[in-house]
Amino acid sequence: MLKGKTALVTGSTSGIGLGIAKALAAQGADIMLNGFGDVEGPRAEIAALGVKVSHHGADMSKPAEIAAMVAACEAEFGAVDILVNNAGIQFVANIEDFPAERWDAIIAINLSSAFHTMHHALPGMRARGWGRILNIASAHGLVASAGKSAYVAAKHGIVGLTKAGALETATTGITVNAICPGWVLTPLVQKQVDARAEKDGVDGEEARKRLLGEKQPSLQFVTPDQLGGLAVFLCSSAADQVRGVAWNMDGGWVAQ
Ligand code: NAD
Repeated sequence: MLKGKTALVTGSTSGIGLGIAKALAAQGADIMLNGFGDVEGPRAEIAALGVKVSHHGADMSKPAEIAAMVAACEAEFGAVDILVNNAGIQFVANIEDFPAERWDAIIAINLSSAFHTMHHALPGMRARGWGRILNIASAHGLVASAGKSAYVAAKHGIVGLTKAGALETATTGITVNAICPGWVLTPLVQKQVDARAEKDGVDGEEARKRLLGEKQPSLQFVTPDQLGGLAVFLCSSAADQVRGVAWNMDGGWVAQ
């Protein structure tokens, strides 16, 4: 379905971004990966799906590196047809204890980076008359939790950015949508499981149950594969008129 298209997925060396990159590659899209840590493993997983794959190491907190990444993708693959803004970090503390530099980093990586990628990728999408922008927000783009002020502000912000982008492109073949996952057991959440286990003096399994029990009525984690399936749908022609949504896949989290 996506043969001939190129997807740039930020933060795709791990977790949800890698799951979405694999799902798009399975549909034939060539992939530019981005993110830190092990690159060769993810690169090999994508290459095994028979598509072209590359990696750019831009730091999503640095606007000049983001501009260089979009330019590199266009130079190497000829286009950024699908842009998935996924890179993100978390930090948990009450506002009065929240270090200002952590606030700045979360706003930069989880929110402003999506403005910068869109700013640079939209002109090419407009020229080609087709594009898909998927912003990975969160259930925290729709509702809040205590201790996550910067994350909640960034994720609500990215839902707003999604709506503005959708209106600006409404008469074109470009769609802009957000995906709002609930708990997904990735390294980002494993840190919170470990912190909960330590705080409550319980093992990892019990800590996972407690985290799910507080927020996610299904009591099951969402998986990167399931999110990949939603991303593929939003890239399909069936979704041509899905514009500006913040689509939750959260085991019932925001239905409460
Ligand atoms: P993860 O920690 O597994 O992956 C994060 C990715 O972002 C990695 O590839 C990492 O290298 C990359 N990254 C981090 N900082 C970066 C930077 N400065 N520049 C470039 N890349 C950077 O996390 P995840 O759980 O897969 O999260 C992915 C996205 O999904 C995030 O935006 C997160 O907020 C969102 N999300 C996660 C959950 C969850 O439960 N895991 C729920 C809702 C939303």
